[in-house]
Amino acid sequence: MIKVYNTLSRSKEEFKPIEEGEVGIYSCGPTVYNFVHIGNLRAYIFADILHRTFLYNGYKVKHIMNITDVDDKTIRDSRSNGLTLKDFTDRYTTSFFEDLEKLNINKEEYIFPRATENIDGMVKLIKKLLDKGFAYKAEDGSIYFAISKFKDYGKLSGVDFERDTKSRISNDEYAKDEAHDFALWKAWDEKDGDVFWETDIGKGRPGWHIECSVMSEDNLGQPFDIHTGGIDLIFPHHENEIAQSEAANEKTFVNYWMHNEMLMVDGQKMSKSLKNDYRLNDIIEKGYEPLVFRYLMLFTGYNQKLNFTWDALEAAKNGLGNLKNKILLLGNDIGEVSASLVDDFKNEINDDLNTPKALAVLQEVLKSDITNADKLATVLDFDKVLGLRLDEVKSETIDIPEDVIKFAEDRKNAKQEKNFELADSLRAKISEAGYEVEDTKDGYRVVRR
Ligand SMILES: [Zn+2]
Repeated sequence: MIKVYNTLSRSKEEFKPIEEGEVGIYSCGPTVYNFVHIGNLRAYIFADILHRTFLYNGYKVKHIMNITDVDDKTIRDSRSNGLTLKDFTDRYTTSFFEDLEKLNINKEEYIFPRATENIDGMVKLIKKLLDKGFAYKAEDGSIYFAISKFKDYGKLSGVDFERDTKSRISNDEYAKDEAHDFALWKAWDEKDGDVFWETDIGKGRPGWHIECSVMSEDNLGQPFDIHTGGIDLIFPHHENEIAQSEAANEKTFVNYWMHNEMLMVDGQKMSKSLKNDYRLNDIIEKGYEPLVFRYLMLFTGYNQKLNFTWDALEAAKNGLGNLKNKILLLGNDIGEVSASLVDDFKNEINDDLNTPKALAVLQEVLKSDITNADKLATVLDFDKVLGLRLDEVKSETIDIPEDVIKFAEDRKNAKQEKNFELADSLRAKISEAGYEVEDTKDGYRVVRR
C-alpha cells in the first residue's frame, strides 16, 4: 500500500488508482526562458522518486511533464535576445533535458508536451468555458475566467476573497495573494511581436494556466491520479487548473495533489538578486557530481523545507563516497535480494516517500549479517528507487584496488577501537599503494595521490 499526502484533503491517504495497477502522473515542468535552478530540480527529483516508487511497486506509470514554451517571460526574453521564440526556448529545453539526464531522471519514461504544440486543444477548452458562461471576452479581445462563477474556487489553496471582484489580471502570475479573474487567452498586442495564433477565439496566445488543463486531459483523461508541483504553484496555478477543468467538464480534475516544499539557499529564499539561484552547472563547476546533489535531496523528505548549503553538499559528497566504498567492498557476486529488508524499505518509501528513512534502511543492509552478495543484490534493488547509479560503482572506482579499500575500512574500524597504531600502519599501506585516505565527518574517502 502506498500512502501519499494529498494537499486537497490536507491528510495522508492510501493511494487508490483509477485503473488497477496503473498510475497517471502530471508534473508541472519548466518555463523555458532560462536555465532551471536547483529549486526547480528539487521538484523534478521529487517527481522522479514518486515515479520510481510506483514502478518499484509494480505499477505501470504514465508520466507527463509540460514544457511551457510560450508565456510573458519567454516572449519578452526571446525578443530582447533577438531570437525567434522557438530558437530561444529550444536552447533552454535542451539544457533542461541535459540536467534531467545528469540527475538520472530517465526522460524516455516521460512524455513532454509543449504548450506551443497544443494551441488547438486550448482554444477548444476556452470555447467550452465561454459557452458555459465561465469565461468572458474583454474589450481588447482577451478572454478571462470568471472565478465568481466557479463556486469551488479556493478549495485547494484555501484562498478566500471577494466574489464580486471585477478586477482582472493579465500577467501569468498574481501579485501577492490577490485573486482576480485570470487570463485564458491574451489578445495580441505589440509587445508580442510575431508571437500569435489566428484562431476562432481571436488573434493572440494562451495564458499560462490553460495548457496544464489541456495537456493533462489529453494524455491522462479526467480525472487522473496524481498532480505534482512545488508548493509555490498551489496558488494561483493549480487552483486555476482545477477551475478550468472542473468548470468545463463538470467532474473531478485530479484525485491526489502532491506538492514539494521549497528549497532555501543559506537560509534564504532563492532569488536572482541574491545571486543564490544556483544551477546544476554551478554545482558541477565546483567539482561535485550531479548525483551528489540528488543524494543530498533524498536526506530530507520532499514535504519538508530544505536548506541548501555548500557544507551540506560537501557532507553529501563524503556520504555518497563512503557508501560507494562500502559497496565496492562487497565484491562482485550478486546474490539474492533480502525479502525482509525490502519490506522495511517499502514501508518507508511507500509512506509518502520517506526518503530519509529509506536511506537509513540502506545503511542497515550494509550492517546486516546477510552475505555480501545478498547485500549487493539488495542495495542495487533499492537503487531502482533512489536512482544513485550504484550499479556503476564498480566501473567508476575501478582504479582504486580492492585491497586499498579493505585497508581503509580496517583502518576505520581500528580507529573506532582506538587502536591507533594499527590505524597508522594501515594508512602507511594505503599510501604505499599510491592512495591517500582522508577522514571526513561521516567516515573517510580514498583518493589517488
Ligand atoms: Zn501546470
